Amino acid sequence: MAKNRVTTHLMCEECKERNYTQVVSKKRSAGSLKLSKFCSRCRKHQAHKETK
Ligand SMILES: [Zn+2]
Repeated sequence: MAKNRVTTHLMCEECKERNYTQVVSKKRSAGSLKLSKFCSRCRKHQAHKETK
């Protein structure tokens, strides 16, 4: 059913807090994605890196 899905996290590059989780296709390699997201610990938008 969900065999081709894997959960990844979006980690704040500043404080290393994992603020977001997302489910992506397994075929997509992790670690390639970088997004600007709001970090609740930094209390501002930070670059978030995809991690496992
Ligand atoms: Zn942060």
